[in-house]
Amino acid sequence: MSTGAPVRYRPHHFLCSLGFEGKGYSDGFTANMAAIVMGRLRAPGGDATVIEVTRAADDICAPCPKRIGEGCEAGEKIDRLDTAHAFALNLAAGDRLTWGEAKARIKASVPAGSLHRLCAGCEWEPLGLCEAALARLHAEE
Ligand code: SF4
Repeated sequence: MSTGAPVRYRPHHFLCSLGFEGKGYSDGFTANMAAIVMGRLRAPGGDATVIEVTRAADDICAPCPKRIGEGCEAGEKIDRLDTAHAFALNLAAGDRLTWGEAKARIKASVPAGSLHRLCAGCEWEPLGLCEAALARLHAEE
């Protein structure tokens, strides 16, 4: 079942969406991310949501206070995260996959306990929310 137009994601936002728990960089950023993650990906049937990979500012970045056009004021760090996540999940710009396929790929390719390396430099990583979500994914049948 199709669930609307594809969501556009840069590579590291697949795992960010797995770990998202309603925290973000601003009220507008958080509301937009909640609409995508809670409103689409985690809604009933959300596993069928198609996501298209981009290497520029995406649907999560759109209202971010740190976005500068298609880039980011933390561009070097974001590029490093995208490169690491693209490698780990075998993602390239233009690829399309469903959220269900993305979660299966995360489960197959990202071991529990590995985000301190994969996400090094991300300010959210030390909170442990994403690592907890990854552990829950691995615990699912
Ligand atoms: S630690 Fe940061 S980069 Fe890694 S999944 Fe969480 S929010 Fe995304």
